[in-house]
Amino acid sequence: MTARELSGLVHIREKDVIPHLEHLEKSLRRSGQRLVIEPAACLQCGFRFEDRKRLSKPSACPRCRYQRIDPPVFRLSSREKPPT
Ligand SMILES: [Zn+2]
Repeated sequence: MTARELSGLVHIREKDVIPHLEHLEKSLRRSGQRLVIEPAACLQCGFRFEDRKRLSKPSACPRCRYQRIDPPVFRLSSREKPPT
């Protein structure tokens, strides 16, 4: 789900979802699941924000300066081998 979809589900502002996701990412490391992030992408040139560390949506494409960005999508994934 995107941050916007999550914000609708839990009734908090979209920008307030991000710190929760960052916390969740840390908590999940011990639980055998992880937060998978499908990177944001530019809707004009297709540039993907693969190396972005922050979870918020970028405001503009660094390659073509276009400002319509497909937001990152978050999902949970189980590790293939649970920690022992
Ligand atoms: Zn672009």
